[in-house]
Amino acid sequence: MKKTSTRLADGRELIYYDQRDDAVRDAVDRRPLDPTVTTSEVRRDPLLGDSIAVASHRQGRTYHPPADECPLCPSQGDRLSEIPDSSYDVVVFENRFPSLAGDSGRCEVVCFTSDHDASFADLTEEQARLVLDAWTDRTSELSHLPSVEQVFCFENRGAEIGVTLGHPHGQIYAYPFTTPRTALMLRSVAAHKEATGGENLFDAVLERELAGERVVLEGEHWVAFVPYAAHWPYEVHLYPKRRVPDLLALDEDARTEFPKVYLELLRRFDRIFGEGEPPTPYIAAWHQAPFGALEEFESVNRDDFALHLELFTIRRTSGKLKFLAGSESGMNVFINDVPPESAAQRLREAASS
Ligand SMILES: [Zn+2]
Repeated sequence: MKKTSTRLADGRELIYYDQRDDAVRDAVDRRPLDPTVTTSEVRRDPLLGDSIAVASHRQGRTYHPPADECPLCPSQGDRLSEIPDSSYDVVVFENRFPSLAGDSGRCEVVCFTSDHDASFADLTEEQARLVLDAWTDRTSELSHLPSVEQVFCFENRGAEIGVTLGHPHGQIYAYPFTTPRTALMLRSVAAHKEATGGENLFDAVLERELAGERVVLEGEHWVAFVPYAAHWPYEVHLYPKRRVPDLLALDEDARTEFPKVYLELLRRFDRIFGEGEPPTPYIAAWHQAPFGALEEFESVNRDDFALHLELFTIRRTSGKLKFLAGSESGMNVFINDVPPESAAQRLREAASS
């Protein structure tokens, strides 16, 4: 992999990740962009103890690409996009309209391929591996920023999830705090460690799931299962079998096997609801150990966390979405209409032949 960092016309960083080590990336952003001015503020809810990012941007938006021009496709002639070069493998750049910025963290966009009409599931194993390497590198780089405590790589796929750009891409949020879901997991891990005299909760969960009926897919180094208490109609958790705290700690064997396992999972997701259905909308979310101090979690350290990916769809049946209504939005109590065992069965049936 070759990495080339450059700056866009408004000062934002853009990084090319190339499969070829001799790739040359010297194209210049020729758009007349004003420097980005971003104000983003993190407010803590005193009752719930969670944090809200309030983003009010005052940007001089002098440059508006025509609506039919995808800003994530490579630039071609006079069609100038966010990517100055006329081709790319994987590219990452700072979001022009970030939810988190400055002292409040950083938001980045990851373009998985220059092919506008592809989806992640269409990538080759080599391309998916390059995305994994880009995620890993971004995690490392962002973790070194003084304001950053946690790095979250994710993909929202599908208009039903609010994705406005069809081009295959994901995002990375670098938060200035440990997120509430991660904090909950760390508290559970700490409580379990104390109650059992040192057992790791992630290991215990993985052992139970591996022996159960909800395994969807198992490789030599990765296992995917529908969790016992899945929140969403179709939800799969993908873990490396050897517990590591983050993407940086994955060994070469796990990195090599990841593309095959993950691409198969995504392809099965597209088949859940049968042939002829529009592509399944999904959210794919990497959970990594935070980089900040963990004092508040007492006996827990970074190595107690288990890197994993949570993949779920908000579609519950053909043409119907699962809405976060009263119980979910009002009280954080999920009602799941699809038994996890049935979901796992369906996801095994959808295997590639
Ligand atoms: Zn595009």
